[in-house]
Amino acid sequence: MEEAGRLGVLSREERKALEKAKILRQEKERDTFRRVSKILRKSEADRTKDEQEMLQQCEDTVQEMKLRKSKRDVLKRKQEEVLDDPDELKRKVKLLSAAVREAKHMVIYTGAGISTAASIPDYRGPNGVWTLLQKGRIVSATDLSEAEPTLTHMCIAKLYEEKLVNHVVSQNCDGLHLRSGLPRHALSELHGNMYIEVCTICSSLREYIRLFDVTERTALHRHGTGRLCHKCKGELRDTIVHFGERGTLEQPLNWKGAEAAAQKADVILCLGSSLKVLKKYACLWCMNRPPNKRPKLYIVNLQWTPKDDLAALKIHGKCDDVLKLLMEELNLELPVYDKAKDPIFGMSTSLRTEEAESHSRKLIAPPKVSEVLNQDQESSEGSTSVLGGWFGRGCSKGRKKKR
Ligand SMILES: [Zn+2]
Repeated sequence: MEEAGRLGVLSREERKALEKAKILRQEKERDTFRRVSKILRKSEADRTKDEQEMLQQCEDTVQEMKLRKSKRDVLKRKQEEVLDDPDELKRKVKLLSAAVREAKHMVIYTGAGISTAASIPDYRGPNGVWTLLQKGRIVSATDLSEAEPTLTHMCIAKLYEEKLVNHVVSQNCDGLHLRSGLPRHALSELHGNMYIEVCTICSSLREYIRLFDVTERTALHRHGTGRLCHKCKGELRDTIVHFGERGTLEQPLNWKGAEAAAQKADVILCLGSSLKVLKKYACLWCMNRPPNKRPKLYIVNLQWTPKDDLAALKIHGKCDDVLKLLMEELNLELPVYDKAKDPIFGMSTSLRTEEAESHSRKLIAPPKVSEVLNQDQESSEGSTSVLGGWFGRGCSKGRKKKR
């Protein structure tokens, strides 16, 4: 304020002179930065006497540059993917299996990293959707309808069946947890499910589970799918929660289930998530309790996560590798995905004849009769580079609100 007031009484020439002096000062600073940076890149032995003197004179600049470099290094290290060596991995999985056996109420949080084996791109890995968009690259999608539950999805369903896991909270929209056979009540799909469209006009939320990606016409703040509710004729909407949106749908988000599970949890296992979004949901971490009363945290992820320092154990491994070892440790048979048992086929609502043309996405091929469908599939094979409606869009549009 004072500065502005003082500038207010200056003449036009004086203001111009001040502005010019400021520009010159900035230019000089930039020049000093460039020169210091060049000197610092040399080894100490190679620096001339003049250069050494310059470093001494520009102590502040040198400090500032060192600080910037260390920040850059930290950032780079956080993005690197690290793999524990096989012996280390085994040792850690033994610890994890002990925790799983002893847990009274275990909750699993999953992210895109558990689906990469199903060739669904993750968000923040080196080739993740978010990373590529940040670099201004174009993201092309593999056809998501061809993805099937991975070994990790199947192992999680098995652990639930064995009553070793109580609830699963997922950030993934790919619907693969549901397709692995995990019951709805044990699952919270916090960011939606690409196969589910809902009518929010009908008094109790009416769900339509489809065998195709329903998000083809939807985007950030635009959720209408173009199809109508069979009961009330209102427009259906997708269930996807984009970056910057707040998810309020009861299903498939099931926030109630997620919160209740987190409150009861004594062990939380995070699989394949950068936790950058999940960490913002305070209710999932019991952060209102003193540290020793919070659930024990086990993290499996290749990259750094913001919860690493709070974790009882951090495993740098691929989820499929870790889960395979874990099943061995627990003496459980490795489950295999069987399309004939995929519950989505039984849950899905067929399109009516007049709705047949309402989408152009490939269907999840049903078991056995897949040969019959070949003809239909061939006609849409050219469209595999179409960007899936739910990912990519709105990725950098602000942050999610705290819950
Ligand atoms: Zn309706």
